[in-house]
Order: sequence, then structure tokens, then C-alpha cells
Amino acid sequence: MRMEKVMLVTGASRGLGAAVALLAGTRGYAVCVNYANDEERAERVVAEIRAAGGKAIAMRADVGNDDDVVALFKRVDAELGVLDVLVNNAGIARPVSRIDALQIADIKRMFETNVYGTLLCSREAIRRMSTIHGGAGGVIVNFSSVASRLGAPGRNVHYAASKGAIDAMTLGMAREVAAEGIRVNAVSPGMIDTESQDRARIATVQDTVPMRRPGRPEEVANAVLWLASDEASYVTGTNMDVAGAR
Ligand code: NDP
Repeated sequence: MRMEKVMLVTGASRGLGAAVALLAGTRGYAVCVNYANDEERAERVVAEIRAAGGKAIAMRADVGNDDDVVALFKRVDAELGVLDVLVNNAGIARPVSRIDALQIADIKRMFETNVYGTLLCSREAIRRMSTIHGGAGGVIVNFSSVASRLGAPGRNVHYAASKGAIDAMTLGMAREVAAEGIRVNAVSPGMIDTESQDRARIATVQDTVPMRRPGRPEEVANAVLWLASDEASYVTGTNMDVAGAR
């Protein structure tokens, strides 16, 4: 019987993905730390997991690129073994722009990363996890955002729309594979203090959060690790806010 579970975290070179990978490393998962560009940061996350006694590898792959995604999963198969948990964290929220100033390239890039990326990685995970493909089941955790229901007017409607797609696919995939041993859930972070966030904006709008502060990456990671765990064995198709109140 396998003792060690395997988790792939997309976009884990920094921010929320790195926090999930680091926590997973301390909880006994062998972790694949995926990144798009920043190899040095990804290797730092891997080194930190290993220094704490865990097992990890870093692998570059653009989650919006089909060939990259197929290669990523093959490498996880070969180097870490059977995948138990996929965390679809990779996502971009820029450029910040009104709709009437958007360029097609910006819209494409956002949807390729946030929407295609989650679909392509989920497809590869389900091909491995589903009992109808001979798998032993597994868990998928998607990253949505409270923006999907607020709409982010004036700055990020395109981002909110991409996260709306995540909400729909979380529900649909959960129902599609519920009888095949796979649970699919999402987390919807509110304003979390990561590098991707505009610090001046955090200072300005944090008082609108009922808890009066931004969240910490570790607080999101705790929710993800719980959804991934057997403690959440009857939880699927849900979307958990981690936002300091709804
Ligand atoms: P960061 O910008 O800090 O980190 C993004 C990560 O995704 C990096 O590791 C980056 O890799 C990777 N990445 C970007 N594009 C790709 C790609 N095409 N393929 C693979 N990896 C990619 O983001 P956050 O940690 O702030 O956000 C993480 C997730 O949480 C996102 O889905 C975001 O939408 C969501 N979220 C965040 C909130 C927040 O307040 N921070 C609020 C709500 C949701 P590299 O470093 O190599 O470029």
C-alpha cells in the first residue's frame, strides 16, 4: 500500500500556490511545484520542502498549452507516481483594465491561463484518477475568486468572467465524476496579501472587508489542504470562500 500521497500544484513558485505546496510538503505529500517562468523561485519552494524533510520536484509548464500540460502530467507519473490531488491554482489577474480598453491578446492570455489551464489540467487528472479509467480516485481543488460574484467592475470584469467559468466547471466536473471516486471543489479567496496584489489597493480597501484585514496565503492553504483531505470525504461541488466573511 502507498504511504505517500502525490499532489500537483500549478503556479506554485510564489503566492498562494507556494503556500499550498509548502503546507502539503509538511503534511506528507510528495509535491510537484509547477511554474511558468520563474525557475529560481520554484526551486526555492522545492528546497524549502526538502529542508523540512519532504519530497518535491519543480516543473515548468504553461498550463494554457496542451503539450506542456500533457508533458507535466507524464513527468509527475514518472517521478512521483500516482496522482492523488490536483490543485488548479495557476492564474493571472492582469492587466487591470476597463472592458473598453482591453486588447484581444490580454483577454486570450487570461482565459488561456485561468480557464483553459484549469480544464486541461483537470482533464489529465481525471484520465488518471477516474475509476472508469482504472484509477483509484482523487481530489481536484480549483481556484476561483470572490470576484466571480462581485464582477470586478471598472478594473477586472474579464478576470471575474474567467473565475465565473471556474465556478461552473467546479460544479459540472464534481457532478460528472462524483461516482468515479473524484471530488472537485473550489476555494474563492477574497483579498489575500500576495505579490500579485496592489499594495496601495489593499491599504485602501481592506476596511471594506468585514474582518478588516487581508487574508494570509497560509489561511487559503489551510482550506485547500482540508478540501484535499479525507476529512472532506463527503464534500464535492462546493465553493469555499476564504475571504474574511461573505
Ligand atoms: P501570483 O501572481 O502571486 O502567482 C501566480 C503563480 O501562477 C506563479 O507561480 C506563476 O508562475 C504561475 N503562473 C502564471 N501563469 C501561469 C501559466 N500559464 N502556467 C503555469 N503557471 C502560471 O498569484 P496569487 O498567488 O495571488 O494567486 C493564485 C491564484 O489565486 C490565482 O488563480 C488567483 O486568481 C487566485 N486568487 C488570488 C487572490 C489574491 O488576493 N491573491 C484573490 C482571489 C483569487 P511564474 O512565477 O513562473 O510566473
